[in-house]
Amino acid sequence: MDIARWLPLVVWGVIGGGFLASFASLVAWRVPRGQSVLRSSFCPTCGHGLGPIDLVPVMSWLLLRGRCRYCGSAIPPRELVVEALGMVMGVAMTATWGVSPSALFYGCFVFGLLAIALADLERYEVPLAVILALGGVWLAGFLFVRAHGWLVVAPRPLWGLGVMLAASAFGALVTRGRYGGGDWLIGCVMGLFLGPYYALVAWFGANLLALPLAVGWRRRAGAGPFPFGPALAAASTLFALPPVQLFWLHVFPYQF
Ligand SMILES: [Zn+2]
Repeated sequence: MDIARWLPLVVWGVIGGGFLASFASLVAWRVPRGQSVLRSSFCPTCGHGLGPIDLVPVMSWLLLRGRCRYCGSAIPPRELVVEALGMVMGVAMTATWGVSPSALFYGCFVFGLLAIALADLERYEVPLAVILALGGVWLAGFLFVRAHGWLVVAPRPLWGLGVMLAASAFGALVTRGRYGGGDWLIGCVMGLFLGPYYALVAWFGANLLALPLAVGWRRRAGAGPFPFGPALAAASTLFALPPVQLFWLHVFPYQF
């Protein structure tokens, strides 16, 4: 691959991913607290409004050494980790989808799931507003494909929905209710965006991922129940990437 072709993709991915992750973090913080996501950013400690220079992903955290410029209070390293993760996700999305309507479509999916995962980790809450927004994005994409075609939408999304409802019912039965209502909602979104086959594969992958994590989680003193959301989000993000889908088909060539 020549540098002139992939360098813009990397730059787009790093910048776009960093900002989208920063926004996902803001959504995960504000939506469960009933705050508007449109209000401009402010320091949660001193309330001082943040300027553009304070909002550059990763860089501003590093330059200010994780402290608010105005009051000096610590900004949690979570911001840095989430934004760096977002950059990796952005590069993966643009490297596989290019700068295209599909990149935007699946970008909304994976960064919406990132916001859900963060809210679930912090408060055991899957914000319904984010689920509904993702449903809206999917519907808009579906109608856009009908009209224009140049967007990749997973086949048989309604089958995806049905399969994931069945998988969620199974999960709730096996875990005796610990697979909660929020996980059902995430499953519905997975079914729509990934279609029945990859949604189910990602769901099983998430359970495999969650098993050892849940054991470690319970060993922590005072840990609450294990949140499934982040595992579902991580597996779904992987299976939103065509190379991962192709690799999976190569290893296990039995698609339904
Ligand atoms: Zn401050």
